[in-house]
Amino acid sequence: MKTTQLAHNAPQHSKDSDCTVDWNTGLCKVCGVDHGGDLCPDCGQRAFHSNNCPAILVECTLAEAQVAFWKVVIEKFPEASNGDLSPDTAVRLSIAAHEAIAEWIKTNVPEKVDAQDLLDRAALLQTQYWDALSALEDALGVDVDGQQELLGRTVDSLITIEA
Ligand SMILES: [Zn+2]
Ligand SMILES: [Zn+2]
Repeated sequence: MKTTQLAHNAPQHSKDSDCTVDWNTGLCKVCGVDHGGDLCPDCGQRAFHSNNCPAILVECTLAEAQVAFWKVVIEKFPEASNGDLSPDTAVRLSIAAHEAIAEWIKTNVPEKVDAQDLLDRAALLQTQYWDALSALEDALGVDVDGQQELLGRTVDSLITIEA
């Protein structure tokens, strides 16, 4: 997933569901974003992270924190003529800081409730419920009141009462 980079190049779209993907190429026909990569393990999206995806929160925090970190170092040594750092050290710093931020968020920041996500899940379950109920009615040959409590009911009791 190359979300950050791609998202900047594609101002038309900002979430996976915006896109019309040509699955032959994996690219969105409208914005050209690549949907061929793996799903993000944190938010389940493919081309764009969801707004509150932990991965994107860590990336943004890390970028800002590194700027602040080097600002302090540079201010302490005004006589420095350049800002060289070996790639190895830079990478190790990045990885360590990334892990520290991710762990800190996980330990200390309460998870946000995404109401839209909950609504989407409820809507999906609702659709599945009515589909299952229709299939049940077809199988029994009787109408079943979808508003009643079905938990613990037996098929016989449904037929007796509804028929
Ligand atoms: Zn798109
Ligand atoms: Zn994500």
